[in-house]
Amino acid sequence: MSGLNLSVAVIGAGVCGLAAAIRVRELGITQLTIYEKDEDVGGTWLNNRYPGCGCDVESHLYSFSFAQNPNWSTAYAGRAEIHQYVRDVVADKKLLPHIRFRTRVVSMSWSAAESRWRLKLAIRGDNGSVESVDATANVVICAMGPLSVPSIPANIDPAEFDGPVVHTNEWDESVQHKGKRVAVIGNAASGVQVIGAIVDEVESLTVFQRTPNWVLPRWNPQHSAPFKWIFAHVPGAQRVWRTLLYLRRDLILHNVFRPSNFLAGRVSKLAANWMKSSVPPEMHDAIIPNYRFGCKRLIVSNDYLPAISSPKTTLITTPIQRLTKTGVLLTDGTTVPADLVVLATGFQIQKPFTSTEVIGSDETTTLAEKWANTRDAYLGITAHGYPNMYLMLGPYTGLAHSSVLTMAELQAEYVTRILRRQMQTGTPAVAVTKAAEQAFVARCEKGMDGTAWKDGGCVSWYLDKPGGSPSALWPWTVFWYWWTTRKVVWSDYEPKMVLPLKMRLMMLVPTPRRAVKSVLLVLLAMAITRRFAVGKGAHDWITGLTRKLVGR
Ligand SMILES: Cc1cc2nc3c(=O)[nH]c(=O)nc-3n(C[C@H](O)[C@H](O)[C@H](O)COP(=O)(O)OP(=O)(O)OC[C@H]3O[C@@H](n4cnc5c(N)ncnc54)[C@H](O)[C@@H]3O)c2cc1C
Repeated sequence: MSGLNLSVAVIGAGVCGLAAAIRVRELGITQLTIYEKDEDVGGTWLNNRYPGCGCDVESHLYSFSFAQNPNWSTAYAGRAEIHQYVRDVVADKKLLPHIRFRTRVVSMSWSAAESRWRLKLAIRGDNGSVESVDATANVVICAMGPLSVPSIPANIDPAEFDGPVVHTNEWDESVQHKGKRVAVIGNAASGVQVIGAIVDEVESLTVFQRTPNWVLPRWNPQHSAPFKWIFAHVPGAQRVWRTLLYLRRDLILHNVFRPSNFLAGRVSKLAANWMKSSVPPEMHDAIIPNYRFGCKRLIVSNDYLPAISSPKTTLITTPIQRLTKTGVLLTDGTTVPADLVVLATGFQIQKPFTSTEVIGSDETTTLAEKWANTRDAYLGITAHGYPNMYLMLGPYTGLAHSSVLTMAELQAEYVTRILRRQMQTGTPAVAVTKAAEQAFVARCEKGMDGTAWKDGGCVSWYLDKPGGSPSALWPWTVFWYWWTTRKVVWSDYEPKMVLPLKMRLMMLVPTPRRAVKSVLLVLLAMAITRRFAVGKGAHDWITGLTRKLVGR
């Protein structure tokens, strides 16, 4: 490697920031700092403390490939268990010394003269004081989380209500819901979880539904001791299980988001029948969506439909006008009294990336301005005009069908390939070209054609604006993202970072891994040619070559 020492700042200690930090450190980069505005790691799994919060992807898949956990208690773990898992990974990877808690990155601007980012930090003290501090880093990895800034509808002003109002992302555990009249506004992914979890404990529950959601049953068995034992002791067992979970989602579930696909029609019919069988007939019209299956995030829940059918629950579909001192005022003039209002109203997607002021190489344009109309980025990882800056789960790389942790790992891997090349070639700064960015966005936009996310007839948080592009999502399978990111196309970056000849020659020397791979490929080719008798000549040639290579 050249003498280039890169310092790296990661913003956010959620699962994506941690995945990136772990890979960066494996590169041998020691000047690594993770800035985290909160007091602990975990991001999503630290903050969403509402009852019932958990994963809707199986935990064996919603976990790091490099830190698999044989002890998940259930198929879909709850928030606390996932949070503990994240903390364990941080301890195991000895990342804590790199993390600066209570430190918010307020702004960052690129200094071309120094080839580094200048960061402005706001550090929160014990007494609530805030200290402003400057910092620098050659490389910044933005892992602020696409879903970490709550969205509150414009007509809801918490100050108008006399009791407590809590957003699911900022759950206050000191607020009591037991025995209270609780109003839950919103019934999407977080709403259904909280509704199912609290219905038995409250005096009454009112669910305010703007749009119904497609709901699927969730099979969430407890993992038995023998099941865990197998994963802990049988080599490869957990990897096989994880692969099966992954394949089921990539090969099957991914297809339901294309309405023209036979599977989409079948699954939506089955879902509608199951939903109708789970609630009284008079609720059917209210709960069955009038938009395409998969257009909004699919809900997997066994307890939501029973909860809204409970005699304690009232499902309200009349729009909300505003909050009053005593409850929720509807547009028809009625007021629903409540002691506690829960806002399950979702997130301002990608807002965390733009609420930090990020000024790129032209010294004026902020990322928020660049993304004002369309969220342009390349592979969801780099953005033209922002050198040495990388995004985790940036535009076009969220998933509706599988675990975003797999995407985060692929992105972290991709970033380290660029950093390694920078160090090998002594290149202090690199940025994606505009042409590459535009071509990628155009490809994704085309990929969205015919999907339920784009043409399904709903308004969802996947869209960059109502009627806009579902740029929150990757249009294809995770496999295809792996394929797309497995190599860096160096001509998509400026400068191109061509390796010196000596280094290229050295790369031809087989490493033990490459040698094993080559032998396996040759063996596979032999087996195929023998099995299918594809050209005896080819078979003889490969056999001869293998004998020569292994010296027999
Ligand atoms: C309730 C819920 C359930 C979910 N379930 C699933 C699921 O089952 N499967 C799935 O694939 N995805 C799920 N998701 C999506 C989820 O967001 C991702 O899986 C994942 O947690 C994102 O990780 P992250 O590190 O990118 O972001 P986050 O977990 O949001 O972490 C971002 C971190 O950055 C910090 N931060 C933000 N801005 C700044 C700043 N300016 N300075 C310093 N620090 C900052 C935040 O404090 C936070 O700690 C769920 C999301 C929610 C909200």
